[in-house]
Amino acid sequence: ENYHAVLAENRRLYNEVQDLKGSIRVYCRIRPFLRGQNGKQTTIEYIGEDGELGIVNPSKQGKDGHRLFKFNKVYGPAATQAEVFSDTQPLVRSVLDGYNVCIFAYGQTGSGKTYTMTGPNAASKEEWGVNYRALSDLFEITQSRRSSFMYEVGVQMVEIYNEQVRDLLSSDSFMCFGVKSFVFLNLHTLGILTTSQPHGLAVPDATMLPVKSTSDVMELMDIGLKNRSVGATAMNERSSRSHSIVTIHARGTDLKTGASLRGSLHLVDLAGSERVDRSEVTGDRLREAQHINKSLSALGDVIFALAQKSSHVPYRNSKLTQVLQSSLGGQAKTLMFVQLNPDVNSFSETASTLKFAERVSGVELGAARSSK
Ligand code: ADP
Repeated sequence: ENYHAVLAENRRLYNEVQDLKGSIRVYCRIRPFLRGQNGKQTTIEYIGEDGELGIVNPSKQGKDGHRLFKFNKVYGPAATQAEVFSDTQPLVRSVLDGYNVCIFAYGQTGSGKTYTMTGPNAASKEEWGVNYRALSDLFEITQSRRSSFMYEVGVQMVEIYNEQVRDLLSSDSFMCFGVKSFVFLNLHTLGILTTSQPHGLAVPDATMLPVKSTSDVMELMDIGLKNRSVGATAMNERSSRSHSIVTIHARGTDLKTGASLRGSLHLVDLAGSERVDRSEVTGDRLREAQHINKSLSALGDVIFALAQKSSHVPYRNSKLTQVLQSSLGGQAKTLMFVQLNPDVNSFSETASTLKFAERVSGVELGAARSSK
């Protein structure tokens, strides 16, 4: 009945759980209606200042149609790329102090994952997503610290498609896109990774390339993106049916003492989370969908186990969680962007995305609480 009482109770419960974990953050972002979408029919009912989100089920009358969620942050359709990044920046910066950071974007195809992570147009700085902003911020800091620290930065990019890991920066890809000026280095050669060190991807053969500037990385990411497996689906032609992981490794050496620090940043654009109707797809499409579902739920299980400080974390259940194992948990920091399409027609996907988000954040508020 009383929205504010419910809010207060949700907030209390949420803060209680948040205090227990600290290393997992969930930010929810609602994209605007696009041209051609009916802007009046939205499932989003309420966006609170403290990360509350209220949604309404268009096909349920009365109180039961309303639900309330609570996340670390909720960004409405008007939030700018700069605003979103400002809350992510401290996390990104901690990489240079030796932390492992994983940033994910989760949501149905067309909900804005790529917009948030990469942005719609690399040529327009204003529209840059988290990836490019993070990189330029990191390079700026390494520059400003150069009298006392020497940083080496390397990049890897892999994709996971049908539970197979593919190196998106292998020398073959360079030949095919005509870029031959980079020195090819195996990650061991660069010395940032050694087999015993606990950071980074569990893909020993993935090509790692040294980079000196944001534009070096942008060039590499562009090549990597062209190599991703993309296929057309009914929902979105550009939809990607694979997970892509861009990893930035940074090793800093203190010029006075010679001591060194290693940190890594994983930027993960997940495959679309939409459920596919078994009756509509067969063959390759069905197999893709099954692999995607399996890996996303394995990811959810891992993050949930970490949030609960569970003694068993089920990393082995998917390639995605295996590859990221050393960068999830322990001292690592995880941020999940949960992306929503506000359209009523997306209600069931929105509800299942929020269910996933609620679970990974370790707090399940439940429908009952918002309809006392
Ligand atoms: P996904 O990666 O989840 O499939 P996209 O990032 O491709 O989704 O977004 C789908 C469409 O919505 C694109 O045309 C994108 O430019 C647009 N879009 C997504 N988020 C926003 C936003 N916050 N502001 C403006 N346009 C957005």
